[in-house]
Amino acid sequence: MKLHSACVLLGLASLLPSLSPAAQSTGSPFYGDAPDRHHPWSIHDHNRPQPKRVEPGTFSSATQPGTPPSDAIILFDGTAASLEKWEADTKADAPRAPSKWIVKDGAMECVPKSGYVRTKEQFGDCQLHVEWAAPKNVQGNSQGRGNSGIFLMGLVEVQVLDNYNNPTYADGFAASVYGINPPLANALHAPGEYQMIDIIFRRPVYEGTKVLDPGYLTVFCNGVLVQDHTPLEGPGGHQKRSVAGPFPAQGPLKLQDHGNPVRFRNIWYRPLPARSVEGGTDGFLTAEATTLKRKAIAATVRADAAKLSGTAQMLRLAESLVYEDEAATHAQVETFATSYAANIKTLTSSARAAKKNEVQSVIRALQYLGKSAVLPTTFGPRTTLESIVKAEGWDKNKK
Ligand code: MG
Repeated sequence: MKLHSACVLLGLASLLPSLSPAAQSTGSPFYGDAPDRHHPWSIHDHNRPQPKRVEPGTFSSATQPGTPPSDAIILFDGTAASLEKWEADTKADAPRAPSKWIVKDGAMECVPKSGYVRTKEQFGDCQLHVEWAAPKNVQGNSQGRGNSGIFLMGLVEVQVLDNYNNPTYADGFAASVYGINPPLANALHAPGEYQMIDIIFRRPVYEGTKVLDPGYLTVFCNGVLVQDHTPLEGPGGHQKRSVAGPFPAQGPLKLQDHGNPVRFRNIWYRPLPARSVEGGTDGFLTAEATTLKRKAIAATVRADAAKLSGTAQMLRLAESLVYEDEAATHAQVETFATSYAANIKTLTSSARAAKKNEVQSVIRALQYLGKSAVLPTTFGPRTTLESIVKAEGWDKNKK
């Protein structure tokens, strides 16, 4: 934002004692481009919620796992107690059973031939952090060396494999989306050392066999980008090409037993907000979703206006019309603006001067509503106030 804009904002904010302290500090109404058919918020909208505070964690080192961010859901923290969040990956019709994997030196380790493990918790779109280490004692080749897998929702595998010095088919490489896309690079540490994997997962969203969103995986391996918003086209798998089809909303995180004692530590995730395609209400929305969201914002702004009085209330109500041109509020703003302009007209020049800033803020609101086609640009109270500004010469000494 340019400096002069900041000054204008500060000036306007000081005029509006009605606004909450939070709103005063986050910008001014009637400022950037208005909401439109696909965007419920205006540009630089001061009503738009502030991002929530998250205390960041610390990065891991080769010998020490880092700490997760404050809002992370911990799936494994190196303790035997956190292994209780996992269970054996039994078939749907079989009884649930505890995991047979073991906790050793702060890691959960695959016991070969004991079967996959899965989280008891189910979740969908997420930021996922996993650290894994292949056995230091190198055995086997290609897919037989340090193989495991991180199965998002139990369906999409981000490959775990010791490929430090071990060629294999590219779409089965470590950090590949198995069977779908090779990693962009081989950024692995040597076997025995931990690999830090950070994943951003968006599940596929289908309507029958129609793809509404193919789903995406972005993956960093040891801080190196290895999957760049890779479209999923479905779950992927061994020897099978993915086909679009039903995909659940949630599932457990699974770790693969591929017969190698791979170790895992420091596993956590953060759920991601819904995309617009699955009912999210921010960003570029459908026309229907935008209308609904704009109505909701307008209702909130009107509720805030109800706590105010006088000009401050009129300005806040005018603001609500930017989101929803609701008839009763529209009439209220018109009536108030009409009487406001008539009153200013009757004042002496010195009395008007005392209200200069307020008058200009009202004009600004009416001009914005004109630009947004809520009020005609020829709206009487607006032209009355604009002519007063000219008559007083307030338009000639802008700084
Ligand atoms: Mg695997």
